[in-house]
Amino acid sequence: MLKRKIELFKLLGFSVSLDVSWGIILFLVVWSLAKGAFPAYYPNLSPQTYWIMGVAGALGLFVSIVIHEFSHSMAARKYGMDIKGITLFVFGGVAEMKDEPKTPKIEFIMAIAGPITSLFLSLLFGGLYQAASAVYAPVPIVAVLGYLGAINLILAIFNMIPAFPTDGGRVLRAILWRIKGDILWATRTASRISVFFAMFIIFMGFISIIQGNVIGGIWRILIGSFLFSVANSSYQSLMIKQSFAGQSVKDYMKIDLIAVPSHIMLQEFVDEYLYRYHHKMFPVTKEGKISGLITLNALKLIPQEKWREMQVIEIMQKATKDNTLPMTMSIHEAMLTMNESGMGRMLVEENGNIVGIITLKDLMEFFALKIQLEP
Ligand SMILES: [Zn+2]
Repeated sequence: MLKRKIELFKLLGFSVSLDVSWGIILFLVVWSLAKGAFPAYYPNLSPQTYWIMGVAGALGLFVSIVIHEFSHSMAARKYGMDIKGITLFVFGGVAEMKDEPKTPKIEFIMAIAGPITSLFLSLLFGGLYQAASAVYAPVPIVAVLGYLGAINLILAIFNMIPAFPTDGGRVLRAILWRIKGDILWATRTASRISVFFAMFIIFMGFISIIQGNVIGGIWRILIGSFLFSVANSSYQSLMIKQSFAGQSVKDYMKIDLIAVPSHIMLQEFVDEYLYRYHHKMFPVTKEGKISGLITLNALKLIPQEKWREMQVIEIMQKATKDNTLPMTMSIHEAMLTMNESGMGRMLVEENGNIVGIITLKDLMEFFALKIQLEP
């Protein structure tokens, strides 16, 4: 699986990571500052100076976003919520919460903490910019401070766009949640409004390009597309999280297992098990005890002419932490583990004994059913 994020450092117990998209954005920011904004506002400096200012501006932006995300995490921690880490995306970041906020009030405070912090940073850098101008500090310093004051204001405003999962989207959801007391309805409504706003931003981007503002237009289209894709996916994952809230692997595992003895030949496995039950994974028993699993994929790697010579035990995977989930694990965590490992089927254990299997397919079918029953 493609690794999407790179861990940078740990601070106050939170690990800070960069999403790969940030590499592109960092370059875009440095480039558009060094080639666009700074030469336009502060002419007659050397090209090297503009590049240094561009890098300084981008670093300042980076630090500002980290502080913004920390404010969310600190607010979350204050309410006893577990934050695993902070990942910086294109425009801002995401604090990774293990659980969803329990009340609309907590969600509201957590979400609003970010934009308020950005607004504060904007005032801080704006003040420093005024002070630096007043004492005739070197132009590059004044310029970078001015940029940071402006960009933090933009961050505060941008994050308040009611487009899920921005802070504004969460604030909106908290308010809707408070009004009707129904978190699923609030999530659905907030996400519909988000998709509308994302399309509106993309539309405004095209208008800008038609009017000749190409760079501004591209920015809007990029931001709109990003919002559009995350609004959809975060809505889905929220719905999944809420549908399975409080439930564990135990509630969804299959216990009437069809297990394959480890000593039989692959051919017998194919004839007696695979063709009969059409599962893609079977637990394997050795001396009457389930000790591993065999998958259709593992079988496919063995040439057919060898099926009469090889035993199941030769291609079975032993039950390990990588393919076995504890029975008490929450469904949400189980789904994350299965997604990360790319395995849609896993064994379930209790006190070291395999007691069942769980499949992503069953979970998704249940989820689809639930969505249909709750329009
Ligand atoms: Zn935020």
